[in-house]
Amino acid sequence: MSTTATTPTAPAASTAPHPAIVQGAAAAASAVAAPAAAPLLSVNGIEVIYNHVILVLKGVSLSVPEGRIVALLGGNGAGKTTTLRAVSNLLKGERGEVTKGSIVLRGEAIERLTPADLVKRGVVQVMEGRHCFGHLTVEDNLLAGAYTRKLSRGELAAQLERVYHYFPRLKQRRGSQAGYTSGGEQQMTAVGRALMADPRMVLLDEPSMGLAPQIVQEIFEIVRMLNQKEGVSILLAEQNTNVALKYADYGYILENGRIVMDGEAHALADNEDVKEFYLGVSKEGRKSFRDIKSYRRRKRWL
Ligand code: ATP
Repeated sequence: MSTTATTPTAPAASTAPHPAIVQGAAAAASAVAAPAAAPLLSVNGIEVIYNHVILVLKGVSLSVPEGRIVALLGGNGAGKTTTLRAVSNLLKGERGEVTKGSIVLRGEAIERLTPADLVKRGVVQVMEGRHCFGHLTVEDNLLAGAYTRKLSRGELAAQLERVYHYFPRLKQRRGSQAGYTSGGEQQMTAVGRALMADPRMVLLDEPSMGLAPQIVQEIFEIVRMLNQKEGVSILLAEQNTNVALKYADYGYILENGRIVMDGEAHALADNEDVKEFYLGVSKEGRKSFRDIKSYRRRKRWL
């Protein structure tokens, strides 16, 4: 684990020792080891400014290897959504722009592409707050996700069945107006709609927001299945550190527009500072939110 952004590696064979355990040895042996595959996505020192004056991201770097779940963690206003918008090129609509750094997808610089170009390259964002079309049925919402693919009727039916395979609840609710479904069903619709675009990478913004813990778990289990069975890489922005670290392979912690710590998910979950400041637990037991606030003054990385 490090307090300056490093690069997570692509999934290793299951027999290999965990990367965090061999970190030191790997560094020593790097001269003879095969070079790591280039990540699917790399964000290199980006700065984002809104309205020409509000500096929000101050040199954010991260990478997402093919086939992995990478979590971007941090509190309210840390800059998680802004990072995802920078990748999917949705900043323009918010009067924001990337003013420094680069974003590279499979070796191609993508900062100047449109959101539609990104979808064509397999990068799809599921926005915070789901943004379902409330007056359309669940199924019509799903079909909207395949709009750019120009599929035949038969192909569309097959794609819908694929989504219903992962989200059986949506099959039951396929004819219901999305606006009258539960928050969990709307989140599933939003993820299902993204799946209809046949993504290679999903940018998932706060899927747990406003949902009961059981539903959050159900959604994360499905996300993990999509990752493992379909090989979809995921960049997940979450305030719910606990659940994100349970499902992610690697995590970055963002504060005030800067990455302050990153590491393998299990190492972050075991880190005393992360436990104290983000999970509300310390050696002396569970902390109250008031305690955590006062403890913030002791942060070693600031
Ligand atoms: P949250 O979980 O609350 O969405 P976040 O980590 O995703 O938090 P962002 O939404 O990226 O954070 O916001 C980061 C900072 O940028 C905040 O201070 C926010 O007020 C500011 N910001 C976000 N969008 C805009 C915008 N369109 N115009 C100006 N400032 C913005």
